[in-house]
Amino acid sequence: VINRDRLLDTFLELVRIDSPSGEEAAISAHIANRFRELGLAVEISEAGNVIARMDGEGESILLSAHMDNVMPCRGVKPVIEEGVIRSDGTTVLGGDDKAGVAVILEVLQTILEKDLPHPPVEAVITVSEEVGLAGAKHLDMDKLRSKIGIGLDMGGEIGSIAISAPYHDNIRAVVRGKAAHAGACPEEGINAIVVAAEAITNMRIGRIDEETTANIGVIQGGTATNIVPDRVEIKGEARSRDEEKLRAQTASMVESLRRTAQRHGATVDIDVHREYVGYSLSEEDRIVQLLVQGVRAVGLEPLLVPVGGGSDANVFNARGIQVTNISVGMEKVHTTEEYIALDDMATCAEIVLASLQAATLGHRLGKQGGGIAYGRHHGVGD
Ligand SMILES: [Zn+2]
Repeated sequence: VINRDRLLDTFLELVRIDSPSGEEAAISAHIANRFRELGLAVEISEAGNVIARMDGEGESILLSAHMDNVMPCRGVKPVIEEGVIRSDGTTVLGGDDKAGVAVILEVLQTILEKDLPHPPVEAVITVSEEVGLAGAKHLDMDKLRSKIGIGLDMGGEIGSIAISAPYHDNIRAVVRGKAAHAGACPEEGINAIVVAAEAITNMRIGRIDEETTANIGVIQGGTATNIVPDRVEIKGEARSRDEEKLRAQTASMVESLRRTAQRHGATVDIDVHREYVGYSLSEEDRIVQLLVQGVRAVGLEPLLVPVGGGSDANVFNARGIQVTNISVGMEKVHTTEEYIALDDMATCAEIVLASLQAATLGHRLGKQGGGIAYGRHHGVGD
């Protein structure tokens, strides 16, 4: 039922509009206009988040995507080869997450034009997802009436449904040693680079276990070869789908910095920031059941997968709206090799449409006292 050509046109139109995080005015206005053309009530928040509402039958469902892109993303020139859309290699494609936006626009337009049964829908397209989920964090959640939702900000095999996402800590530390002339009196200095290096060497970094990871991503310090450096700044992160494990991992990284600094007579200021909280859903959760039905409706087997990255869904879940991501088919995101197959994007749109219809049909059955027609939910994923 999805109009593939129109979906492609919408997507190409979106990726051609520059939208680095923090510079979303043009894309935000464009998306708001597209919703208005569909006759929907549209609200643009001060930050530029776009919320569009469609009335319907039964329980409201939120559809989530973000409009900003990571750099390099100015002047995207999409290239289509055998049904696969890429950039010309100089920028990202921006399918993360304009594929999600395009799918939402196409699904709503299809519902309206074919007058399909559907629940009330709240489409929430955020700004600045790529910079700490800032747009979603600024949303006034009290304005939203949905309790469940579908996130369209994930890659992987079509039919994948995220069932858990990690908790995430950011760690920033400034190691302070003591400057001295490197040739004349190095013994009077305390080398902050050496302290930082030793602390990092003693940390467990990389994959800690199946659900826990850690990284030191930035180190900056020193001014000249003939000066014992007195200041080094380190930025790192840790993630885990288990909150307790994250606490332990972050604490051990902090401890390594403290202990090493102390041993060398240096000092360290450490700032730990909980970037977002994780979530975990099961096959018992209604949104998962609807998505499972949606995936089966297009003839695929659902794959319930844990994910390693955060998204707006983390923010929604933390604030009581159970939102989970499904794959839109985006691949190699955050690189200039990013690509997406039109077939995958179209199938994703069919899945969203089928899930929304399942919600309405379930609601009708419920009203007749026949119970809600959930699909079988055995043997999903593994
Ligand atoms: Zn994204």
